[in-house]
Amino acid sequence: MNFPLPPNSTIGIVGGGQLGRMSAMAAARLGYRCHILTQEEDSPAAQVAAGTTIGDYEHPATLRAFADAVDVITFEFENVSVEGLDLLASLKPVRPSPAVLRVSQDRIVEKSFLNSAGVATAPWRRLSTMAELEAAVAEIGLPAVLKTTRLGYDGKGQAMLRRPEDLAPGFATLYPKPLILEGFVDFAMEISVVVARGTDGTTTAFDAVENRHRHHILDLTLAPARLSEEAAEQARVIAVRVAQAVDLVGVLAVEMFVDRAGRIVANEIAPRPHNSGHWTIDACPASQFELHIRAIAGLPLPPATRHSDAVMKNLVGPEEAALWPEILATPGLIPHLYGKTEARPGRKMGHVTRLFPKGALPGEFGVTAALGPAASREAVDPT
Ligand code: AMP
Repeated sequence: MNFPLPPNSTIGIVGGGQLGRMSAMAAARLGYRCHILTQEEDSPAAQVAAGTTIGDYEHPATLRAFADAVDVITFEFENVSVEGLDLLASLKPVRPSPAVLRVSQDRIVEKSFLNSAGVATAPWRRLSTMAELEAAVAEIGLPAVLKTTRLGYDGKGQAMLRRPEDLAPGFATLYPKPLILEGFVDFAMEISVVVARGTDGTTTAFDAVENRHRHHILDLTLAPARLSEEAAEQARVIAVRVAQAVDLVGVLAVEMFVDRAGRIVANEIAPRPHNSGHWTIDACPASQFELHIRAIAGLPLPPATRHSDAVMKNLVGPEEAALWPEILATPGLIPHLYGKTEARPGRKMGHVTRLFPKGALPGEFGVTAALGPAASREAVDPT
């Protein structure tokens, strides 16, 4: 395949969710077609794409048919097998490479990788027996978080250990999966940075943003995070270092904690566009989705600058999806809906963005007021 990818080429996206949908919309603006591989009929991404292959991500014939239909392949879904992506990579360029997914799919590999790249994390230990858990707790101390090493997301596959009595029940809920114990970070703020890296090694990182979760699901992103200049720069440096160390082509997000002493430790890597980067669609000349498509297509990467500050609010589950008419009737709220027909509890149905002049991101009460009908009552803690 020739790179830069000529207009009208076809980008294959593994996964049919909203990240694929917004990537396909950015690709369309750059003159590309997208072809989606998904297990789901009528997926959010397929609704806006030129073609779709519906089938099993693990099925070689399905993967071959998909690869035949496209010029370059990317993924928006992390729980695809590395073996499946390896097969695709033998047929067409896969960007980022399956090796990046190998790092992010396993918390042990991920934490080892981060530490070897010089990035601090919470202290952690690998374990698989109750005796090893006790030994790990003796070293790391309590509180601590016990997690499955694979396939955890949105707080699933985790147990908080506060007191010695929590060890046995926590272990029992997650056993027999391989586990990791992490020291609990008493964080002042959760932040993330989305970084893009091109085929020529150029990197550019968006400003760090602050993320607030509700019921373990991202609720609000404030862009930029209210950090000192040094801390904000340090967060971007960490993301760039990770992108370089994994030889990224595309975008990835690094989720981090800022502890009460202002230290930054990395928690997770997501090797794809990230929910905490949705604000970039409306607040930046080139969004995380455009940078991702540009990177995998071998196009020049513009800097990840923003023209506005922003608040992004996820619309989760039936209750928040039901706010749609009021959101549409509120000037200043920029609406995004993902085309999902069924609003199950906890499902991300869409998001809204509100822009502010650069430097004018409001304080806590201002954020709630600015979101109007989209603000969730528990979203902002006024204390
Ligand atoms: P994760 O699946 O690792 O992204 O964890 C989901 C959420 O659990 C994070 O966004 C944090 O709010 C919380 N969490 C996870 N690990 C830790 C930790 N080591 N210390 C404190 N909070 C954590």
